[in-house]
Amino acid sequence: MRKDTITKVNENFIDKRFLSDTVGQPISEYFGKLVFGSTAIKKYVMRDAYESLMEAFESGERINPKTAEMIALGMKNWAIDNGATHYTHWFQPLTGKTAEKHDSFFRLDKSSNAIESFNGSILIQQEPDGSSFPSGGLRSTHTARSYTVWDPSSFAFILESSHGKTLCIPAIFVSYNGESLDLKTPLLKSIHLVNNAALGVLKYFSNEATKVYPTLGWEQEYFLIDETLYNARPDIMMSGRSLFGNPPAKEQQLEDHYFGTIPERVVDFMHDFEDDCLMMGIPITTRHNEVAPMQFECAPYFESVNIAADHNSLLMNIIDKIAKRHKLRALLHEKPYAGVNGSGKHNNWSLATNTGENLFNPGHTPENNLQFLTFLVNFLKSVNDHSGLLRASIANAGNEHRLGANEAPPAIISVYIGEFLDEILGHFKNNTLDQFKKKSDELVLNVPKVANINKDNTDRNRTSPMPFTGNRFEFRAVGSSVNVSHPMTVLNTIVANQLKVFKSEVDMLKSKGIATMEAVKTVLRSTLIASEQIIFNGNGYSDDWVAEAAKRGLANIRSTGEALLEYTKQKAIDVFVKNGIFTEKEVISRYNVYVEEYIKQIEIEYKVMVEIVNTQIIPSVIEYQNSLISNIQGLASVGLSSQSTGTKNHLQTISEHLNGLMSSTKTMIQTFNEIKATHDEAKISIDFYYKLKPLFEEVRSHADMLESLVDDKSWPLPKYRELMFLY
Ligand code: ADP
Ligand code: MG
Repeated sequence: MRKDTITKVNENFIDKRFLSDTVGQPISEYFGKLVFGSTAIKKYVMRDAYESLMEAFESGERINPKTAEMIALGMKNWAIDNGATHYTHWFQPLTGKTAEKHDSFFRLDKSSNAIESFNGSILIQQEPDGSSFPSGGLRSTHTARSYTVWDPSSFAFILESSHGKTLCIPAIFVSYNGESLDLKTPLLKSIHLVNNAALGVLKYFSNEATKVYPTLGWEQEYFLIDETLYNARPDIMMSGRSLFGNPPAKEQQLEDHYFGTIPERVVDFMHDFEDDCLMMGIPITTRHNEVAPMQFECAPYFESVNIAADHNSLLMNIIDKIAKRHKLRALLHEKPYAGVNGSGKHNNWSLATNTGENLFNPGHTPENNLQFLTFLVNFLKSVNDHSGLLRASIANAGNEHRLGANEAPPAIISVYIGEFLDEILGHFKNNTLDQFKKKSDELVLNVPKVANINKDNTDRNRTSPMPFTGNRFEFRAVGSSVNVSHPMTVLNTIVANQLKVFKSEVDMLKSKGIATMEAVKTVLRSTLIASEQIIFNGNGYSDDWVAEAAKRGLANIRSTGEALLEYTKQKAIDVFVKNGIFTEKEVISRYNVYVEEYIKQIEIEYKVMVEIVNTQIIPSVIEYQNSLISNIQGLASVGLSSQSTGTKNHLQTISEHLNGLMSSTKTMIQTFNEIKATHDEAKISIDFYYKLKPLFEEVRSHADMLESLVDDKSWPLPKYRELMFLY
């Protein structure tokens, strides 16, 4: 790499230190300072309105216009007191990113005096132009009207930049006809669905809880890279991942990075970044190094899934902003570097009641155990029946590199429950649970032990896309760059759907005079038998599992294009439509959006690749080639031709790879054009994976060989060694 670039990195490091002004303060003093949460609401809103809002927050019920008016007034006063000049509905269109359209509180009154104004109807509903957001064919440009509608179940907050503050009001985004154009609307519907479905089943065991809600604790993995190096890598800049580069001599093989000491520059960044998160009410608690060099992870205390999803979206914005402030870049892509681990976003998911119970906690008494087993078995059945949909829900261009690549869960969806639960289920199935309980009372009933045992087996959990981790499921296959709302909507929907099916079967037996617990056990047994093949406790990275899964009839969908087709299957459409999450048109629109996004992403990679080859790699190699040629000619001119054999060989190897690079690039361009000429998006997406991406690899292999042959000074791109170890 060029010397001036290295110098620049050092300048970044030495000159720029940002430490936030919260250093030394207990977090409890500033947590949620920028959130219009219960403390602020209590202070700024009249008691009645406060109670209605809290009630809506709990139940998801609508708020009446009068209450909205009072809340709007309080929210405005709070925001202005905290320095906000603008407000916006903050929503999550199908780009997966967040969107804002700022308006000022400032108005002119009748006498042209400047005032600050905001009211209930603006709080509840706004009308941004929807035509520039992806709709997957739901809406054409001439019918652009769309609405954002306040989601009172997630608190408003203030977004700060260095010179201004904006009040952000979480909102859903729908078309003029009420079709959802965002990720939050279906998520909220699925949460409502889970509540009803889970309560229905819970009632067999107890009448205490009146609300069940899904909880989510995500774990966000990311890479950091110095800004100067980032700017010198058009591939990372444009596509989020490196399209060229040899693994460094030292990468993760020493296993010295995971949980290792965090570099000081990174810790400073983390402090700053976490402070912003904490002020915005994101309860971040954990941070550590991940497996690969310059890879890190953070995780919050879990929350209800809607809020957790908002918080993760917000965190992805904050991480980007603060990294830039520290002259770093955060890479949220699932696979920034070939040859080292990629990044995921484990979604720890469970069901909680308003009485504080976790429905996936194994429990102490036999009755509770049956309740636990009921939820466990129904979970297994839902994953078994809709594994294709789950696979689709995590499909994107980045994740395609992780799934099945022996570093992340395989592309085969299965559930890990651990040997002990497996044994319990075996006994349950054979009606021998009582004997088992007597034999190993301690293990079955002592909850912490069960949790401990699972913890000890985390090695094997790592290879499962969906391990049970003691009191929750960890959907590990979710990619690091995505908005979690969609995979969570799918999981909520399929579990709720199964709980409804289960309840109807139990009720049918009950109507025939069978006692409730008997009916539960009977249906549970058949449900378990129908879903056993989804349980896999072995090594998910092994080839044996691929063969075994095929025998079991479990799908192993490698390409994004094929995975996304799962949305278009009748089974998937039915589960969404029947449960009121999407209309058929909406499901197809999602498919269209995702497939288009995949195609665009691969196209970007393709274009950047061609550009880098033609404008950076080929010219540098030719220059070096020329220097070798003049060296050979020079040796001849002084009568030392015989001494140039080594140089000639070197030149020949370089020339061969340069030729290979040129011809494979040509083939890649031809193939790309041929694939695109079909104009059939489903086909294009699949052909990209099977026909175009192997050519990416071929082009890259020549370029990477050249990287190892050409003078370091003249290589145009910072190398992996520099990207990962220069900080
Ligand atoms: P690990 O890396 O061992 O999986 P972490 O501490 O990194 O553990 O992350 C665990 C995540 O699981 C945290 O976000 C935590 O809040 C979350 N979690 C714990 N209990 C629950 C639960 N009942 N529901 C949802 N998430 C949970
Ligand atoms: Mg984890």
